[in-house]
Amino acid sequence: MYVVCNEHLDNAIDDFVDVYEQPPDLYELGSVTFTEWDVPKTCDFCDHFPRYLVV
Ligand SMILES: [Zn+2]
Repeated sequence: MYVVCNEHLDNAIDDFVDVYEQPPDLYELGSVTFTEWDVPKTCDFCDHFPRYLVV
């Protein structure tokens, strides 16, 4: 699972495909709600605010 900003969405998808050998599901943060999970404050690849969840 990756939480990424706009800029690093491609990186996350590439990594995901490398590891899991299938395309990930993408969710836009803010359009989905999660219980018992605090959305991380930063992208997995940089310090920017994350925009997408890649799972
Ligand atoms: Zn980023």
